[in-house]
Amino acid sequence: MLADSYGRVATDLRVSLTDRCNLRCTYCMPPEGLDWLPKPELLTDDEINRLIRIGVTMLGIDEIRFTGGEPLLRRGLVGILAEATALSPRPKTALTTNGIGLSRTAAQLAEAGLDRVNVSLDSLRPDVFEQLARRRRLDDVLEGMAGAADAGLTPVKVNTVLMRDINDVEAPDLLRYCLEHGYQLRFIEQMPLDAQHGWRRDTMITADEILDRLSAEFDLRAADDEERGSAPAELFYVDGGPETVGVIGSVTRPFCGACDRVRLTADGQIRNCLFAREESDLRSLLREGGTDEEIAKRWRAAVATKLPGHGINDPSFLQPARPMSAIGG
Ligand code: SAM
Repeated sequence: MLADSYGRVATDLRVSLTDRCNLRCTYCMPPEGLDWLPKPELLTDDEINRLIRIGVTMLGIDEIRFTGGEPLLRRGLVGILAEATALSPRPKTALTTNGIGLSRTAAQLAEAGLDRVNVSLDSLRPDVFEQLARRRRLDDVLEGMAGAADAGLTPVKVNTVLMRDINDVEAPDLLRYCLEHGYQLRFIEQMPLDAQHGWRRDTMITADEILDRLSAEFDLRAADDEERGSAPAELFYVDGGPETVGVIGSVTRPFCGACDRVRLTADGQIRNCLFAREESDLRSLLREGGTDEEIAKRWRAAVATKLPGHGINDPSFLQPARPMSAIGG
């Protein structure tokens, strides 16, 4: 088991397949992109497969979420998925993506065993989408979401970050769109994980504000805690349900006490929290000929030191050195 000293057990592995992305969302990356990780530093497909096997068969991982960067940019994605879903016990699998190109690949991903997707969508207005993502790709994303639903990668969950005076007025429209298409929308509070260090507490849209905006047009009723489990999203029934909307209040309503996540970066580092300031290097151990048991031991030790909370609200908080795209969101 991957247990920490506060009684939490990590069972949900976020695997970053690349730090590259084909969008440049303002809250994540600067317009020119970042210095991408050099290829020799990236885990190979075989190395990723081995670490996933160790996680699932030796350490109790039962759910894997592939992310990035943009995971659809990883050439070996289909093969990695097929290996992961052939493991016993078979882990649940999901993919967090910006949706670009998903309409073409969704069927192949489903065939390889992918269970479902989370697609990021911040605006339904082409100009606002472009202002936020710095690319004019709204139609590709909407097609990607539809393609995922057609391929059975359901429920299609949609992630939205609201930015003040840019897309915050769109909260009800986004919810209406998702309800009409059978997608499950979740709003995420903006977190201090951008490469430019531009996050400001006084301009972020809080969970309370999100709920106020939605409540102006919808009747929201909080779902029971059991339905939330260890999921980051607080769920609300919309207009009596059964449809729900989620709010991930990472900053103002932290949920660290129920966290069951652990992260593997594209260059083979284990992070026990998005906001961790330390990483454990599994890549060196892999490449120095470490045994499965030695790798599992280092992984267990990495999770054992997980702090009780992310600390964003502590006066001494320091943003992690790596931005979200390089950690794997
Ligand atoms: N490229 C994929 C995508 O667009 O979903 C996966 C990686 S992306 C880093 C994962 C999620 O993190 C996206 O939903 C994105 O909106 C969110 N994200 C990125 N930077 C963020 C920030 N500073 N605060 C909150 N969410 C952020």
